[in-house]
Amino acid sequence: SPTLSGMIERIHLAKPRGFCAGVVMAIQAVEKAARTEDKPVTVYHSIVHNHTVVERLRAGGGVHFVEDLDTINALPDSGETVIFSAHGISPVVRERARQLGLATIDATCPLVTKVHTEAKKYAREGYTILLIGDSARHQEVIGTRGEAPNHTILVGVLGQAHKEGSGLNDPHTVEVPDPSRVVVLTQTTLSVDDTRRTVDVLKARFPALVVPPSEDLCYATKNRQDAVKAIAPMVDTFLVLTSTHSSNGMRLLELARDLCGRAERLETVADLGGLDLSGVCSVGITSAASTPDDLVQAVVEHFRVLNPNLQVIEEGEWENIEFREPRKILPTDQLPR
Ligand code: SF4
Repeated sequence: SPTLSGMIERIHLAKPRGFCAGVVMAIQAVEKAARTEDKPVTVYHSIVHNHTVVERLRAGGGVHFVEDLDTINALPDSGETVIFSAHGISPVVRERARQLGLATIDATCPLVTKVHTEAKKYAREGYTILLIGDSARHQEVIGTRGEAPNHTILVGVLGQAHKEGSGLNDPHTVEVPDPSRVVVLTQTTLSVDDTRRTVDVLKARFPALVVPPSEDLCYATKNRQDAVKAIAPMVDTFLVLTSTHSSNGMRLLELARDLCGRAERLETVADLGGLDLSGVCSVGITSAASTPDDLVQAVVEHFRVLNPNLQVIEEGEWENIEFREPRKILPTDQLPR
């Protein structure tokens, strides 16, 4: 169905947008395993947080997705290889894979692994870790916390969450056993500005707070938010292509909404049908780090059909980062804990 729109005259495409290096690496790992393994591979959790990506991998065949390794045996034709998603896993899951005799391909993003390494180091040194996250149920938060469960306290982002039952503590009231030994780590995909404000609150409350020199927020998160900031002053509204469970994507949506007063989330071009864009002349478009770019191009094409003179402006730089393909590790090579 056509969009209820006046004529869109100008689109500003955010750049960078869409796939980050971690997502590319993770998807390629699944595609390759599906191609080369004799039997279907199992992916633990959605490989990346985008519905279209998961549907396409499923449709391509040779891949199962599970949320619990113990359900693999019940699958009719499962092989013996499990792939861990880009968000990372708790060591408990790795250990379970070893006990079940599964070969593993760890597609955890190296920038998530970096935070795991910090968590282990500080826990070993007796620190309490304040881990800032946007949900206690996010796969990355579960994984990072799992490295040091007895040393980690979850903290919500300022102005967000820490509602009753969220499992996140309010940065204004969170307590630690020893305020002289406390460090702050974060999920990789939070709002840059809200994270800075949250860390500032914690610093004021715990003057000895250690803030690791290299920030935990990843380059892709920062760059996509910067691109939205650059475009926002030039557009009437923003369209953000993201699934709701993509943390970095939902932060882009919030940021665009803050800066433009209005922003809409699209899963795919089909969602344009229900949108009232009357009075809108210029649109900014961006997409989550897990959103395939053909979904963005389909939205642009939709507007081009309605207005053949549509202007599409795309400034900024693509990133030039690649992550190494993960190796398959056989059960016999996995070290017991
Ligand atoms: Fe890695 Fe950042 Fe991409 Fe997450 S969003 S997979 S941390 S590069």
